[in-house]
Amino acid sequence: MKEKVLLVEDSAVVLKVLKHLVAQNANFEPVLASSYETALKQVEIHGDDLFVAVVDLHLPDAEHGEIVDAMLARSIPTVVLTGTYDDELRLSLLNKGVVDYVTKDSRYSYQHVMKVVERLRKNVALKILVAEDSTTSRNFIRTLLEQYRFQVIEAKNGQEALTILEADSSICMLITDHYMPIINGHDLVRMLRRNPRFQDLVIIGLSSEGDSSLTAKFIKSGANDFLKKPFYHEEFHCRVIHNLEAQEMLNTIRDLANLDALTGLYNRRFLMSEGESYYQNALAAQRPIHVLMLDIDHFKQINDNYGHLVGDKLLEGFSELLRHCFSDSLVARFGGEEFCILNDQSTVEEIAARLSVLNTNLMEQGFTSEKIKITYSGGVVSEVCENLEGAVKVADTRLYLAKNNGRNQVFSNNMIN
Ligand code: GH3
Ligand code: MG
Ligand code: MG
Ligand code: MG
Repeated sequence: MKEKVLLVEDSAVVLKVLKHLVAQNANFEPVLASSYETALKQVEIHGDDLFVAVVDLHLPDAEHGEIVDAMLARSIPTVVLTGTYDDELRLSLLNKGVVDYVTKDSRYSYQHVMKVVERLRKNVALKILVAEDSTTSRNFIRTLLEQYRFQVIEAKNGQEALTILEADSSICMLITDHYMPIINGHDLVRMLRRNPRFQDLVIIGLSSEGDSSLTAKFIKSGANDFLKKPFYHEEFHCRVIHNLEAQEMLNTIRDLANLDALTGLYNRRFLMSEGESYYQNALAAQRPIHVLMLDIDHFKQINDNYGHLVGDKLLEGFSELLRHCFSDSLVARFGGEEFCILNDQSTVEEIAARLSVLNTNLMEQGFTSEKIKITYSGGVVSEVCENLEGAVKVADTRLYLAKNNGRNQVFSNNMIN
């Protein structure tokens, strides 16, 4: 669904530029108003569907920024555009609760507006936990975060924060006070960072003025950043956004390094590094561990007959099915049309059952308009090997036995499918 962006601006040129920028972004739809009066009409028509308003401070029929109050009164996040820069005005607007204040001094100003709007859209999906024992301070932080459209969860002490974080892995950021009952801020951060599950959680510590050792302590315990209380609205938002963007960039780099670009599955490099600990952990816990190597049959012919693009679509479709049938497993694209799966959740019989589901799906559906059917051959190793590399070698040998035996079959130490 497209989010509606209300653009209120009396200059026809500026309105056109803004409209163009908003319309260019597939996530948004511009709603236009060239006066205070039309803006109110648009609000009436679109109501709660308005995602954000970008407003000019001086309009012919409302010269003193009345539009800002009108938007904020209806809880529409508001970005202010203005031709004049005035420190006092800026501060008063920010204190009222506008998302940002942008001066129209270059074309970059409009791009900045778009960046803010896009940021708000991403924030809607993000959960931030605020751990703070003071109700006033907690409410203040909640208000600041909600202006930026984040989802906010609250904890009154470190223990409560820990329990919430353990139960909800979708929380992406923790903002934590230090002086709190039961578990204080530093101890909370230290405990979280010891657990690999919370390595990517962005943590911002809050420290009071006058206690400068606190900030260093927070960073040393593993926090990404800190804020000194009392803080300004704008500094708070800058730190939150800056740290989120740094983490998002890290995630992108990690994805580029670990995932296969075509299928989105893990790549071979990731499989052979992370998969080894997956394999060893299963052995140490005496869980059964299965290594499957699957290779699509006569794939070269498919490429030759239908073209490389159709081949790519088939690889994507096959990968999607693997992800579906082995959703609890580590599934990787090992090379061209060869896939490797590590599973430590099933018995040999369950693996066989999953492979028959895969086969049924492959028989029933064609992935492209040509409805091409594909088969694969496979090798499975469920016996204990010294390491993943050893298991992959055995699986590969069995895969080739399956190929030589006529394809469209899977070999284990007994043929299983
Ligand atoms: P076999 O049954 O013995 O496995 O035969 P095959 O043709 O599947 O195996 P072979 O190893 O001879 O050929 C693999 C083919 O996979 C050749 C290569 O062009 C194709 N391939 C590898 N990666 C991609 C890719 O990313 N996209 C497409 N479309 N084809 C790919
Ligand atoms: Mg406190
Ligand atoms: Mg093949
Ligand atoms: Mg191959």
